[in-house]
Amino acid sequence: MRFESRLALVLVSMVFAMFAITDYNLLGLTREYYLLLSMRTVVISLCLVLAFVLGRWGGYSRNVWFHALPLWIIATGIILIVPLRPDTLSTQITAVVVATMAFYLLIPNLLTVAVLASLYLSVGFFAAVVFFTGMSPTDTLHVALLLIMANVVGYFALLRLEFLQRKQFALLHEELDQNRNLLKEIEHRKSLEAQLRMVAERDTLTGLDSRSYFMKRAETLLERSRLENSPFSLFMIDVDHFKSINDTWGHTRGDLILTKIAEACAQSLRPSDVIGRFGGEEFVVALSHTSPDDAKMVAERLKNNVAALPLNDEMSELRLSVTVGIAAAHAEDVDLDAVITRADKMLYAGKREGRNRVMMCHEGGEHI
Ligand code: GH3
Ligand code: MG
Ligand code: MG
Repeated sequence: MRFESRLALVLVSMVFAMFAITDYNLLGLTREYYLLLSMRTVVISLCLVLAFVLGRWGGYSRNVWFHALPLWIIATGIILIVPLRPDTLSTQITAVVVATMAFYLLIPNLLTVAVLASLYLSVGFFAAVVFFTGMSPTDTLHVALLLIMANVVGYFALLRLEFLQRKQFALLHEELDQNRNLLKEIEHRKSLEAQLRMVAERDTLTGLDSRSYFMKRAETLLERSRLENSPFSLFMIDVDHFKSINDTWGHTRGDLILTKIAEACAQSLRPSDVIGRFGGEEFVVALSHTSPDDAKMVAERLKNNVAALPLNDEMSELRLSVTVGIAAAHAEDVDLDAVITRADKMLYAGKREGRNRVMMCHEGGEHI
């Protein structure tokens, strides 16, 4: 707005200066010509000073009347031409009508400012015509009617323009509000989606993978191992005598112990291994690039870590242990279920043999 105001001021100054040429043609180097020239110089200088000041300090929203000042200066300049060049009145009437329309149409959103400046121009010009030109009453009436018409048309044009602008502004805001709401809705949905994914992928008690998510990830690992022809092993882990832990210490403590066991299991593995809660107090682990011997070593470490879990004083006599069944993937295994079934068999064999041990499956075909 500042830039536009300054540009308008500079343009108006140039137009106002250009009319000095017609002054010269009409008046020659006479006293009136010099008077007109001085008046034009004052108006142009004021406009240029204002353009400079507006550029520096003319915040439009706070200094609206400041921006309106040029209208008053220009209107004064136009009015002052009448006594100095009374014989070119018809051109000046046209100039006043054009200036009035320009005031109304080119000053955006400032109906009061435009109305006051235009009325000042019209009334001042009309007074100058009456006092300095000796026009006939009929012609004076014509001039008055012309000025009234210019003001009425300009006023209603600006009124309509403002109405349309307000409507456009309101629509824009409505659209912005809707966009904001839409963005909020998208955020909300995204967070719901994340929550849903969390619920689907995580076991709420232990924080390990849920059974279904484990199956998905482990299937991918098995598939990759098959493609790379690298060994793949699987653990089924079951906490020993967990029911009696619950019975003795209550389910809340049972939950806490189960969480600690899950943590100990997860910490015994490499980052590339995948561990999930298979159900109840049973966990399942998929280990890619792991031969049966290495798997046995990892399982022993896991078992020892669980046994070494620190428990608080009142539970100090409690001995935690897990039984682990290990199975390696075979070339002929169609999917993960076959490996799980073999590991499960080993787990139950371990339970039968007295628990707190690692059992490995030696039966069956060629390892991948
Ligand atoms: P075993 O050595 O033969 O595995 O004996 P166990 O007592 O561990 O096995 P059983 O299958 O008889 O009992 C498992 C118990 O695990 C029963 C159930 O109450 C408990 N359990 C399963 N899920 C949870 C759980 O989320 N929180 C708690 N606190 N207990 C659970
Ligand atoms: Mg069990
Ligand atoms: Mg058990």
